[in-house]
Amino acid sequence: MSKVGEKTLSVYGNVVRQFNKAADLIDFDPEIRKILAKTQNEVIVNFPAIMDDGHIEIFTGYRVQHNNGLGPYKGGLRFHPAVDIDEVRALATWMTWKSAIVNIPFGGAKGGIQVDPSKYSQSELQRITRRFTFALGCNIGPEFDIPAPDVNTNSQIMAWILDTYLSTQPPHTRQANVHVVTGKPVESGGSLGRDKATGQGVVFTLAEWAKDRKFDLKGATYFVQGFGNVGSWTSILLKPYGAKLVAVEDICGAYENPHGIDPDELNAYFKQNRTFDGFRNLKKIDHKQFLGTKADIFVPAALENQITAETAQLFNVKVIAEGANGPTDPDGDEILQQKKIDLIPDILCNAGGVIVSYFEWLQNKRSEFWDLEEVDSKLRKLIVGGYDRVRAAAKKHKTDWRTAAYVVALSRLEKVYKERGIFP
Ligand code: NAD
Repeated sequence: MSKVGEKTLSVYGNVVRQFNKAADLIDFDPEIRKILAKTQNEVIVNFPAIMDDGHIEIFTGYRVQHNNGLGPYKGGLRFHPAVDIDEVRALATWMTWKSAIVNIPFGGAKGGIQVDPSKYSQSELQRITRRFTFALGCNIGPEFDIPAPDVNTNSQIMAWILDTYLSTQPPHTRQANVHVVTGKPVESGGSLGRDKATGQGVVFTLAEWAKDRKFDLKGATYFVQGFGNVGSWTSILLKPYGAKLVAVEDICGAYENPHGIDPDELNAYFKQNRTFDGFRNLKKIDHKQFLGTKADIFVPAALENQITAETAQLFNVKVIAEGANGPTDPDGDEILQQKKIDLIPDILCNAGGVIVSYFEWLQNKRSEFWDLEEVDSKLRKLIVGGYDRVRAAAKKHKTDWRTAAYVVALSRLEKVYKERGIFP
């Protein structure tokens, strides 16, 4: 659950409302609806890890597997104090829809540890990660459930998961299991282009939107919430289009410079200092002012439930490109529609990460190594394919883009379930 104002919002509650809206619209098969309305497996592990001073702490970790109708479970791992079963359920379910929209053979899963990683040393984080991997055991696997990075996890953490998983397998099978996790460092079997993949996907979908709207990205203004993997890469990759970053927010606060902020320089500064404070020509603004920034594009790239009934009124943009998962709740959605703000929904917009994870998984299985051009052009093809399907569904059903994205995903899953039937 995440807290906004006095209210406690269930993120999974948002998923249920989004799902029901789309299923009602297309008269979704009521039997298959029952299946997709539930997660398939939910694993909760409480496990110990030794701290640097020798004492032991107990952590709670999660892995929720929503659906594997289209392929192995797939989805990231988040290390954050707000991780709980409600949030992980929601994130796992969104992964199912995402893979279905961009036509990759994966199901949906998500996991994480309820922990604030900033409170632990690197060696403690390594032991927490390894012990979590050990606790998950055969609940993950290269042909079964494949984790990847998410909030506060990165390629280093994926390398520790890989090493722990392989070390617990029989020696003669180890090299055949490198695809147990994606988002690995390139030297350890990762793919070129995975690090920037989600941001790259956001930019590819924005470029499609601009083409549709006959809108010139050159000189367009944008602002970004969350300057981690997704937010920083989106900003950096929008620069060659001639778009101008005018405001940015992270946990250190919100800052603006209407004349433009160089994303490469800001990224270098933020990586070193973990704050925007002290970066030249930035003015600190409050959160509400930040959300009300007058610009063409807003990219939420932090956490859920940022655009709600309370905050949606503040926005003054043409389009919102959801880099984050679940940044807008259903009440927020309605207000954005009333305000005629376009939306590129999360389950389409941020699918670049899982697409290049799929490429990494394929490269590992085939012992191949693709160059960056190949990765980028294949990514573009798949995400633009998803974009086209969502646009067509929005037109056909005369509905908003989030519902249209659900329609694309649900229709694909409905077909698969009808073809296969239910065992026995
Ligand atoms: P990250 O940990 O690299 O970055 C998240 C950033 O958001 C951090 O800098 C953090 O300090 C900041 N943040 C946290 N709470 C905030 C708040 N309340 N206000 C402003 N900033 C805040 O994580 P990421 O991988 O960039 O993920 C960001 C979002 O994108 C998440 O919703 C994640 O699920 C989604 N996503 C990530 C990927 C991926 O490949 N990493 C793929 C698809 C979707």
